[in-house]
Amino acid sequence: MYTHSEQLFKRAELSIPGGVNSPVRAFKNVGGTPVFIKSAKGAYLYDEDGNKYIDYINSWGPMILGHSYEPVTKALQQQLQFSLSYGAPTELELQMAELIKEMAPNVELIRMVNSGTEACMSALRLARGYTGKNKVIKFEGCYHGHADSFLVTAGSGVASLGIHLVPGVTNGVAQDTLTAAYNDIQSVKDLIAQCKDEVAAIIVEPVAGNMGCVPPHPDFLQSLRYICDEEGALLIFDEVMTGFRLAAGGAQELYGVDADLIAYGKIIGGGLPVGAYGGRKKFMEHVAPLGKVYQAGTLSGNPLAMRAGYTLLSELQKNRNLYDELEEKAALLEKSLLETFKVAGRPVRINRVGSMISGFFSENPVIDFSTASASDKKLFSQYFHYCLLNGIYLPPSPFESWFVSHAIGEMEIEKTVAITQKFLEHS
Ligand code: PMP
Repeated sequence: MYTHSEQLFKRAELSIPGGVNSPVRAFKNVGGTPVFIKSAKGAYLYDEDGNKYIDYINSWGPMILGHSYEPVTKALQQQLQFSLSYGAPTELELQMAELIKEMAPNVELIRMVNSGTEACMSALRLARGYTGKNKVIKFEGCYHGHADSFLVTAGSGVASLGIHLVPGVTNGVAQDTLTAAYNDIQSVKDLIAQCKDEVAAIIVEPVAGNMGCVPPHPDFLQSLRYICDEEGALLIFDEVMTGFRLAAGGAQELYGVDADLIAYGKIIGGGLPVGAYGGRKKFMEHVAPLGKVYQAGTLSGNPLAMRAGYTLLSELQKNRNLYDELEEKAALLEKSLLETFKVAGRPVRINRVGSMISGFFSENPVIDFSTASASDKKLFSQYFHYCLLNGIYLPPSPFESWFVSHAIGEMEIEKTVAITQKFLEHS
């Protein structure tokens, strides 16, 4: 007897590559069949078989205040009556840009796009156009979307599927992408020394979330800032995950480090497909039509997407307590899980920054991609399936951060801890 999700997955495999529209959803890293979601509200997802799950994915970040968040759904209902897209400027786009400038440091001009991939890809093109140089330094295990330049030793689904070099990315592109180890400044210095005057940009997830959650060492980001200044390269913060999540001003605010260009996604769209890249005017004025660095989008600044994003960001701006409350919830989850593993005498490493958190089945600190890869992935798969069976929806890979939403309360955290305890007793 197949579940409804299993039946849907079999059908989906006949029409969609691997049955999914984004690879990590296929459960390849943990095995088994993905559950098909029918609806979501607050802290919970509901699947096609009527099962209910505490959601620690939250659409991979956007649903920071929980699902079907009323101010956003109401705003969208209102917006619907004004048609769906015009391909012409709107006041909404302007409000959005002004709000982001108020919230985020170092943003004087901001361009809306439709995904995090587009945001990172466009920021890199601008860095190359501005500096006249070609090479980019990225970090092993970081993911900046699926543009060719970033698919070299990338994190997220690329890591989960164990793909090192992506077929279809030309050698020419790949040789302009240099890869350093996260939290290892010497590896960056070595690359710079090898490619003097050739590096246009260093792009980094200021808190990595695509090899599981891996925080930056103290001074790591500041050292990157220093190296970029010395080298005449631009520092790009990929704040697609961290933006508006770790603080209203994202990781730039949290760590007090200024980036030259910042890429946003996820929360910025409130659940609709939005990305953005921005920075100081002296860089952004090179973007077309002001400058020659061409970048465009038929649906960019789409009114529905702007309305959703603007409403969510306004809530986050108005109510700064939300960040303290998210911190408290995630800290409680971290503390309780650590305690549970300790009592069970089982090794675990929990990495957390604000509401980004990951548990690694490892004795050793997880500080980069190689230490993340050394964790016990088989045990993670077992843990994942045990949680899923018991109503907890974790990312289906150890190479993904979990996201705590504001809708998650003590009850959900207690249940997560109780299920973890049972798992440890049985495994
Ligand atoms: N950068 C980071 C840090 C991300 O986590 C992601 C997506 N997980 C992206 C870029 C790409 O965003 P998108 O999937 O919206 O293209």
